Amino acid sequence: MLPVVVVHGGAGHIPKERAENSTSGVCSAVRLGYLVLQEGGSSMDAVVEAVVQLENSPYFNAGCGSVLNVKGEVEMDAIVMDGKTLDSGAVSAVRNIANPIQLARLVMDKTSHACLTAEGASKFARSMGVPEVPQESLITEYSRMRWKKNLAPEANPVECQMGKMGTVGAVAVDKEGNVACATSTGGMLNKMEGRVGDTPCIGSGGYADNLSGAVSTTGHGETIMKVMLARLILFHMEQGQSAEAASDLGLAYMKSRLGGLGGVVTVDPRGNWAARFSSQQMSWAAAQNDTLHYGLYTGEHFRRSIRDTH
Ligand code: ASP
Repeated sequence: MLPVVVVHGGAGHIPKERAENSTSGVCSAVRLGYLVLQEGGSSMDAVVEAVVQLENSPYFNAGCGSVLNVKGEVEMDAIVMDGKTLDSGAVSAVRNIANPIQLARLVMDKTSHACLTAEGASKFARSMGVPEVPQESLITEYSRMRWKKNLAPEANPVECQMGKMGTVGAVAVDKEGNVACATSTGGMLNKMEGRVGDTPCIGSGGYADNLSGAVSTTGHGETIMKVMLARLILFHMEQGQSAEAASDLGLAYMKSRLGGLGGVVTVDPRGNWAARFSSQQMSWAAAQNDTLHYGLYTGEHFRRSIRDTH
């Protein structure tokens, strides 16, 4: 078992014309993460590498391609957690940076804090030499179109949240058996300015502990926070459930208790993994033993050699 990387590209309902890009996006991100592990990198290096790749793709709601808040601006949240030390780093409501996940990692590595927000996070980014990018470089035509549509008086931005997808996340186990998670998002469509979702909240958007496993989540943040979905799943694993069964139990609880839909990627420290969701779709991919696994719809699970790039 052991080394494995699993990534997701957000729970929701993906328009047909974006499905292919979403699937190829998660597949190339998981390849990069897996390469890091093969070259002896840590699970933390692997999840950050995979998520950076997804943040850079305009097809996901993270980094470039983030959804816009009600004012038409980009505010992003991200978290990383290291299962060996239980150290974590997060940023919330950050603007004008290309890769919030790298800033979250810097918060973990270079500060004594677990989360920095808004202007303070930007100041920290500057002090670390993280380049500032114009907001325009993070906004796509698609995200602007969705924003405009949801400003219309008859629109119901809350209801159509699941109509978008694209929060990104990854979990990994390295050859030492260390687990890690990373999650990054632009948040919810037309959210209030300053709204912070589940993603940067430890135990909700992600959690990693070498004694049980690692989880990265996606879905309606306000609902995920109510059940602390990542930690809930690891609790079930502590009780002896497999990664897959625990993921299903956590998602089923969120659905039955609150009507909330979502998705997760989960690993245990031996390298058993799961990609599960209660939403219509979630693009996901996993790499282990030189095999690439991926899917988009419920029950879909394609397999091929990692060396096969077509
Ligand atoms: N969980 C994210 C948030 O609420 C959104 C998502 O996963 O689609 O900010």
